[in-house]
Amino acid sequence: MKILETKNVKKYYGNGDNCVKALDGVDLSVDKGELLAIVGTSGSGKSTLLHMLGGLDIPTEGSVMINGKELSKMKEEQLTIFRRRQIGFVFQNYNLVPMLNVYENIVLPLELDGNKPDRKYVHGIIDLLHLKGTETRFTNGLSGGQQQRVAIARALASKPAIILADEPTGNLDSKTSQEVLGLLKMSIKKFGQTLVMITHNNEIAQLADRIIRIEDGRICEG
Ligand code: ADP
Ligand code: ADP
Repeated sequence: MKILETKNVKKYYGNGDNCVKALDGVDLSVDKGELLAIVGTSGSGKSTLLHMLGGLDIPTEGSVMINGKELSKMKEEQLTIFRRRQIGFVFQNYNLVPMLNVYENIVLPLELDGNKPDRKYVHGIIDLLHLKGTETRFTNGLSGGQQQRVAIARALASKPAIILADEPTGNLDSKTSQEVLGLLKMSIKKFGQTLVMITHNNEIAQLADRIIRIEDGRICEG
């Protein structure tokens, strides 16, 4: 079953002489349960594509469908709720809330959605991500690697259908990277989730079910 599908997605920034064609006709189809890695040089359009897949920005042309729903047809409010329920984001800047502690950050999307966190499940994730003992600490006192793991825990906590991750292991050492990806993989296979991740790390990309390469805003290897 296809969970994610883009048709001829183009994204242009600016106009006239300053126009940047960040995406230039992307057709991508991702199956439920798939782990997809996106690779490509800096500036090739990877982050832009991830933003389009998550409905964080609208394509200039073309469509993005999640679970058969076209994102650009949703109203802003609808899209916000849809995103919160269906998608877990792991961004490079983590977007953690400094006034909240580690545990509160992890369960925040669930609580915003009016749900009670499954405490046992959340503590399981905290254990597996080696975050035990940090639960009551504020996130700005943590190392980059710890913050990255909190962001991953937060993305997993609500068991979203899709996880979109930009360099999810970019701040972790090789051993921890492999462990964290192993955990992500286990989680997505267990809960039938789908993971789309950008990575520069070849070892990490090799752990995916499929690798696509973006060059100049186009998929050049499917
Ligand atoms: P990647 O993630 O592969 O490094 P990006 O998607 O960030 O690539 O960028 C693709 C191209 O679009 C680059 O040329 C980048 O400078 C440009 N770009 C990205 N975001 C913006 C923006 N908000 N405004 C203008 N240009 C942008
Ligand atoms: P990455 O490290 O994934 O390649 P970038 O450094 O290209 O990401 O982009 C980081 C953020 O800055 C993205 O959200 C992107 O949209 C934005 N961005 C990238 N290039 C530009 C640009 N030329 N003008 C404005 N925003 C940009």
